Amino acid sequence: MPVTVRADLASLPDYIAGRKVPGAVILSSNELSGPPPEAILAAVAEAAADVNRYPAMGADDLLDKTAEHFGLDRPRLAVGCGSVSLCQQLVQATCEPGDEVIFGWRSFEAYPIVTQIAMATGVRVPLTPAQGLDLEGMLAAVTDRTRLLFVSNPNNPTGTALRTAELTAFLDRVPENVLVVLDEAYREFVTDEDVPDGFTFLDRQNVAVLRTFSKAYALAGIRLGFLAASLDVAAGVRKVGIPFSVNRIAQAAGIAAMAATPELLARCAEVTAERTRVHDALLEMGYDVPASQANFVWLPLGEKTAEFNEHCLDQRVVIRAFAGEGVRATVGLPAENDAFLAAAKSFQH
Ligand SMILES: *Cc1c(COP(=O)(O)O)cnc(C)c1O
Repeated sequence: MPVTVRADLASLPDYIAGRKVPGAVILSSNELSGPPPEAILAAVAEAAADVNRYPAMGADDLLDKTAEHFGLDRPRLAVGCGSVSLCQQLVQATCEPGDEVIFGWRSFEAYPIVTQIAMATGVRVPLTPAQGLDLEGMLAAVTDRTRLLFVSNPNNPTGTALRTAELTAFLDRVPENVLVVLDEAYREFVTDEDVPDGFTFLDRQNVAVLRTFSKAYALAGIRLGFLAASLDVAAGVRKVGIPFSVNRIAQAAGIAAMAATPELLARCAEVTAERTRVHDALLEMGYDVPASQANFVWLPLGEKTAEFNEHCLDQRVVIRAFAGEGVRATVGLPAENDAFLAAAKSFQH
């Protein structure tokens, strides 16, 4: 008898990375366009000189700096190989086989994958007609088996954001044994003051907040994210993590990125100004585009999705298409956005 792998893995969708087309404008993965600040590159080069040595096991310096920089309690933190790794660790740390994990759909495509890998059962709650997370629907989906709820705020790929009053009312109603994971991968691009900072909810033991260095901190290729949660949840997440998965270079880069925050936030501000320009131009062209609080826009094109995507590829603009639903286009540098807008304009919709 040959070796077999788990039968359920055959039904597991692959995580689809953004397509890379040489020479094209890449607006498919919500990365920050342009190279990382010089200081980060210097820190990376310096750390690279010592790669014959294992990294610091507990990522001590990185955790110290993260706690200080974000004003968080260090024992309540965990770092991971990208926040997607922390998503999986959260499910592993909270769920037994068959327990349920609720998330909006469509939302971050990693949620169903990490849920299934961890032997839990994913429960998808459709978005509202306005393309936002349906909090009432998510509450209605809670059962005795529910252990965790992923709330992407803003939501990837629709860019919609939950406001303070509705999120607070929701948290008040979630059973206290269900962990609410506020995934704030795009927090630095939020300009609406009424969209809360998840850290303000950390007085609740059933709230965890995820942040990443992949987007605003220009480190998608380094793989670094962190979690803030209750002491117990943070300890559980650290326990199921793979030792040394946040490598030496990532630890140094993260520290340098926090030090470069003013420069990076200035770049985020350019992106959010461009977001307004792109959004308004698309509306002008007659597209339906929900208001975005992230560094991307969502076009719910339905049946026209594949055709729009092919048209953009023909113009050497790479975006992300979700067949039959819509496309997500990252907001990049002005010239990149111009290329996307030109493609959108020449599409017969
Ligand atoms: C991009 C993104 C992440 C970050 O993933 P990393 O693994 O940190 O690169 C997490 N959550 C959402 C919703 C995202 O869009």
